[in-house]
Amino acid sequence: MRKFRSGGQRVQVWISLGGALLVALAAFYIASGLAGRQTALAVVLITGLSLAMSWSLLRMRRQRKEHLLYHTLYDPLTGLPNRTLFVERVEQALLRAVRESGSIAVLVVDLDNFEEIDHSLGHDAGDEVLKAAAEQLVASARPGGTVARLFGDEFAVLLEDVPEKDAAVSAADRIGEALGSPIGLGEVEVSVSASVGISVGGSEGDSPEGLLREADVAMHEAKRKGKARHKVFDPGGGTTTSGRLLVESELRRAIKEGELLVYYQPLIVLETGKIRGVEALVRWQHPTYGLVPPAEFVPLAEQTGLIAPMGRWVLEEACRQVRLWQREHPSDPPLELSVNVSACQFRQPNLVEEIFRTLKSTGLDPGHLRLEITESVMVHDVSAAAALRKLKGSGIGLSMDDFGTGYSNLSYFKHLPIDALKIDRSYVSGLGSDAEDTAIVHATVAFARALNLEVTAEGIENDEQLTRLKELGCELGQGYHFARPLPVDEAAKLLSTRWRDDSRPSPMIQS
Ligand code: C2E
Ligand code: MG
Ligand code: MG
Repeated sequence: MRKFRSGGQRVQVWISLGGALLVALAAFYIASGLAGRQTALAVVLITGLSLAMSWSLLRMRRQRKEHLLYHTLYDPLTGLPNRTLFVERVEQALLRAVRESGSIAVLVVDLDNFEEIDHSLGHDAGDEVLKAAAEQLVASARPGGTVARLFGDEFAVLLEDVPEKDAAVSAADRIGEALGSPIGLGEVEVSVSASVGISVGGSEGDSPEGLLREADVAMHEAKRKGKARHKVFDPGGGTTTSGRLLVESELRRAIKEGELLVYYQPLIVLETGKIRGVEALVRWQHPTYGLVPPAEFVPLAEQTGLIAPMGRWVLEEACRQVRLWQREHPSDPPLELSVNVSACQFRQPNLVEEIFRTLKSTGLDPGHLRLEITESVMVHDVSAAAALRKLKGSGIGLSMDDFGTGYSNLSYFKHLPIDALKIDRSYVSGLGSDAEDTAIVHATVAFARALNLEVTAEGIENDEQLTRLKELGCELGQGYHFARPLPVDEAAKLLSTRWRDDSRPSPMIQS
């Protein structure tokens, strides 16, 4: 902001006022020649006043414009360019590089231990650290380099005229050293380290967003390798199975800008064919890639901690929606909601309170919510046990998801408050055709019944599987045979049909 409240502006205002005075004097001179002194004085006063008013209005408008411009292009905390301005600068640098057959480098710098500092010393201290880190970055970037704050504790550096990768690597080393210097916070001194991702470009097809994304992927690779280091983007690594490159910054944006969606897949009472409830399954409506399935971004969300805001959003959205459906289609028992919870969400100290708060604010009864947790979490994360007990105590149902894919220690069923399990679809798919799968499904249903656990079969795709499961006494099921996961409007249509009250399963519904 300093930049825009310059002394130059004050000089301009004095010049304007001087100008106004001159105009007023001229008006006085002319008016006193043409009319009496009093009329001239009045003319002067009115002219002076209106000029002063127009000048101050103009000044205010200009200041507002500058203020707005500042906030769209600069980060108010550090005074550094923000992401928008950075992208613009990279775009210009790329044009120059292509014209002159040169290269540029983009470095994404993420502080490693910022969250700990922010948590333990408070947000004010966190802000001081960000400001100091920004100054250290500016000092370490060579003259002409642009340093920007992308968001949170993530910064970016643009280097032009980079003859080879090594020059960018040396810059990353300098940055690492500079950031290592101690930062004074009153009586305490802290130091930060950073993980740096580097991408190099300058060819015709390169784009600022592409270079930022590659540097971001490399930065996460540096974090995975143990932090406090740099990594140059490797086009062979870091991609998802479908060759897409999904990165933290995009996922963060997706959560903030509402690109996530909840799809709903019905859970069917196999004996009657009625819809007992729906499972909420997250999707990402990506602006470039279209609808992205959770397998391609839930692991990234788990690695980066973004699973917390994502899970919070899914839970809230699904509770609100199911409560609405319960009101629109009253039934006995009311429609149930199943929501998936990842292992890392149990590391969130306030997870239980957050779930209670969401139930309260959306009006969904705890008895109508079921949390689906993967087997490996239940078995290995003992700290989750206390949270699970609290949740169970409030009436929330707990299912062990994907049963059979983890390392079962069956005695855990005695100690953990689970009341249902879901047989993984890999076993259901072999039902009737694969002897081992069939035996496993048989044994699982018998095991669940003996322990009084409700059992749901996942991935029912045909009539034969359905008949077999019914014969075995499996109570609930879900799968493409009944319906695929559906977007909210199609799920609403499905719920409003008479299917819910019909005694036979409906034909498959495609989304
Ligand atoms: P899940 O909880 O086991 O969900 C069931 C998955 O099986 C869903 O995949 C569903 O589309 C798929 N499925 C259902 N019926 C059939 C069928 O008949 N045939 C086949 N081939 N597949 C079927 P989806 O939606 O891709 O979700 C995959 C996994 O992602 C979920 O497995 C769950 O573990 C995770 N996930 C989804 N949404 C969330 C979420 O909001 N939070 C968390 N933490 N994880 C989520
Ligand atoms: Mg599930
Ligand atoms: Mg499952």
